[in-house]
Amino acid sequence: MLLHFIFLVKEEELEERKWEFQYVEKMAGFYKSWIERVFSKKVDVQSDEMIVRSGNRPLIMDTPILLDDHSSRGEQIFHFYLAYFRPLWTDCTCEGYFAENFGMIWWQKSPKKGDIEFLREKNCTKVSHELAHEFLRMAKFKNYKEIVHEIWDKHLFASQPFEHYDASYKRSENDALFATLDTSSLKT
Ligand SMILES: [Zn+2]
Repeated sequence: MLLHFIFLVKEEELEERKWEFQYVEKMAGFYKSWIERVFSKKVDVQSDEMIVRSGNRPLIMDTPILLDDHSSRGEQIFHFYLAYFRPLWTDCTCEGYFAENFGMIWWQKSPKKGDIEFLREKNCTKVSHELAHEFLRMAKFKNYKEIVHEIWDKHLFASQPFEHYDASYKRSENDALFATLDTSSLKT
């Protein structure tokens, strides 16, 4: 199956956020390997930018627009949207949302250019949250919502550290480029 990451970017921010998209491209490669290891599922990955033009009247962006986009691109592809807005409604605890072959998170804009640590801790982690829901659901886990939220609560409220990985996708605290939720109880 294909997992397609789509980085939404406003036209006027295209240049200043180029480095974030470059991070997304690296992150896609990482998640290919992570999904195979944690969920025993082979995926191909792709990453693209989706440039949003503001035009004369502001478009109210919310999850239904992304779900429509997902349908028009093909529902057999897993589309994962990295959006500059929060989902208005979600029962997730991380400002993200998922459905069948669909994921989205609020990809927070880094306050300063080149701050990889910010992208890793604030955004990369949320991607793992939504991916975990959907791959557990595909693996027919009944509690695919609760399992992830129990782990997430430990990260948020019990100081459980995220897992950190370096550029070769090896566990590392020193040269960490990527971060995910704790996978020790997740292996499918
Ligand atoms: Zn969730």
